[in-house]
Amino acid sequence: MEQILSGSAVIRVWRAELKARTEKLLQRGDEAVLATVQVGLDGADASYARAIEKACAATGVRLLKKELPMDCTQPLLEQTLTELNADPKVSGILLFRPLPQHLGEAAAAACVSPQKDVDCMTEASLAGVYLGKPGSFAPCTPEACLRILSHYGIDCAGKHAVVLGRSAVVGRPLAALLLRKNATVTVCHSKTRDLAKLCRSADILIAAVGRRHFVDESFVRPGAVVLDVGIHWDPATNQMSGDVDFDRVAAVASAITPVPGGVGSVTSTVLMEHVILSKERDTL
Ligand code: NAP
Repeated sequence: MEQILSGSAVIRVWRAELKARTEKLLQRGDEAVLATVQVGLDGADASYARAIEKACAATGVRLLKKELPMDCTQPLLEQTLTELNADPKVSGILLFRPLPQHLGEAAAAACVSPQKDVDCMTEASLAGVYLGKPGSFAPCTPEACLRILSHYGIDCAGKHAVVLGRSAVVGRPLAALLLRKNATVTVCHSKTRDLAKLCRSADILIAAVGRRHFVDESFVRPGAVVLDVGIHWDPATNQMSGDVDFDRVAAVASAITPVPGGVGSVTSTVLMEHVILSKERDTL
């Protein structure tokens, strides 16, 4: 029987610990404040935004929401981020991505200092992750994957981890974090040959491919651990699903994350920890 790697079990005690940290900050007159900046209203963003609201309520992080119209200009976006970055009350800034096509992500991200870059959108933070520099915040989703493995006592050292996807937000930084945990890492992408065969050589398979139910049992070695990063929202059914065909893969994997209730549910709590840590560093 496969083990379900539930995200709620990972965050249960952890959120209470984070709440205690925000209360300690409040006792000395400090507050952990997360500013989110959202351009337009996208369905996927809305579900992440709701998860963030819940995580803030559970951990005592104050949420400051900035909603900009879909036709927002680059100068307005940069001005908004620059002002939040300069605001001493704001400890972390999250910009919902991807941005509408007329907006430049790199120029927008550059308005945020690494200290407040709680989801690793700046080049400086990403470089920190790749170089293993202490102090940089890793992107929340890759870190959530490692949190899940660690919570369930799944050691990465010496294991073959295959990351399916090489995006700058998930696949690449995840590969860097797994390497730091001494896994042997293979990163696959749309040009990879013999994809299913390569994935079948994984002890730990992490799917971040952005295609619903892309990974089936033909990708999974019996007994492998499978993490599903994918999020696909079907407005017709109001159902969420992942990159992994859960039922078919669960039949062969030794452990698997569900969608919903897996990686996504841990991601927002990683974000809370980063915001709190940013404030703690600022005030110590
Ligand atoms: P992305 O930027 O679209 O990247 C997808 C990656 O998958 C790319 O590297 C692409 O290869 C590869 N790929 C696409 N089709 C493929 C194919 N047929 N065979 C092999 N590789 C293929 O997506 P992302 O931003 O990394 O997100 C991945 C998934 O995670 C999405 O479902 C997204 O919604 C979800 N997500 C979840 C969270 C969370 O907290 N759980 C956070 C962020 C994203 P190329 O590079 O060659 O194009």
